[in-house]
Amino acid sequence: MKRVAVVSGGNRGIGLEICRQLARRAVHVVLGSRDEGRGRAAAAALAEQGLSVEPRRLDVSDEASVADLARALAAEHGGVDIVVNNAGIAMKGFDAEVARATIDVNFFGPLRVTDALLPLMRPEGRVVMVTSGLGDRRSVSASLGAQLGKDDLRRDELVGLMRRFVDDVRAGRHTAEGWPSSAYAVSKIGLNALTGVLARELAGDGRGILCNAACPGWVRTDMGGANAPRSVEEGAETPVWLALLPSDGPQGGVFRDRAPASW
Ligand code: NAP
Repeated sequence: MKRVAVVSGGNRGIGLEICRQLARRAVHVVLGSRDEGRGRAAAAALAEQGLSVEPRRLDVSDEASVADLARALAAEHGGVDIVVNNAGIAMKGFDAEVARATIDVNFFGPLRVTDALLPLMRPEGRVVMVTSGLGDRRSVSASLGAQLGKDDLRRDELVGLMRRFVDDVRAGRHTAEGWPSSAYAVSKIGLNALTGVLARELAGDGRGILCNAACPGWVRTDMGGANAPRSVEEGAETPVWLALLPSDGPQGGVFRDRAPASW
């Protein structure tokens, strides 16, 4: 039986290329898209190339949409083997609403999707977070960096820190509290920390599931812009590598170009 992968934000950019590369490696791909029509069109274009891809509505900021996806995977595929949390936003400007929405999609989105799909995941499953070089803990204060980087960080502590950032922006004190004026950077710092938290939670799980994060580099997409040096093919390479890791692959790491990230 083919392995089944779900890719969030699969309708364009790096996510679409991850779908293509996984399907070329004999994986059946469930292409998640928050807009049903755009998802159908993207999946149809890949299917025309002979690839095994089906569209599925998935808005990572909407619990009901995530729950629908989990129900459909259980009913139609009996589970899932690979989850690629690729969907992300980089909003213009910086205020309380930008902070709330960015943390909701880029941090809580992967957490929601992973929590909903882990119970359905078959042995040797793989969870991949698509992160960014901007998720560098050195851009927060030393005190916050130490809290976010500690080896035994728990999910309740991490979730508390992400909520605190949003509250601090709303109250106009985020700089004094040690946060940068970039919701995107904080969301990806949180996502990197979440990768470690989930990996530790999986330690006693017994299914051999590996959870890692990949930075695609600066890539020519709607988000990255036309001047970015990398193609989507290059950007998708490390996420796809992590999605197809062998049993002795790494756990809880952040990678760029298949090597541990240096930040
Ligand atoms: P993109 O071209 O802007 O595509 C973003 C994708 O995420 C779209 O499919 C979008 O759907 C989807 N999305 C946004 N909000 C969503 C939600 N609430 N639920 C489900 N899907 C949602 O961006 P990209 O460059 O391919 O980026 C993909 C990932 O790589 C992101 O996590 C990004 O942070 C990361 N990244 C990108 C770069 C870069 O240089 N491009 C660098 C580092 C990291 P719609 O089409 O409906 O908007």
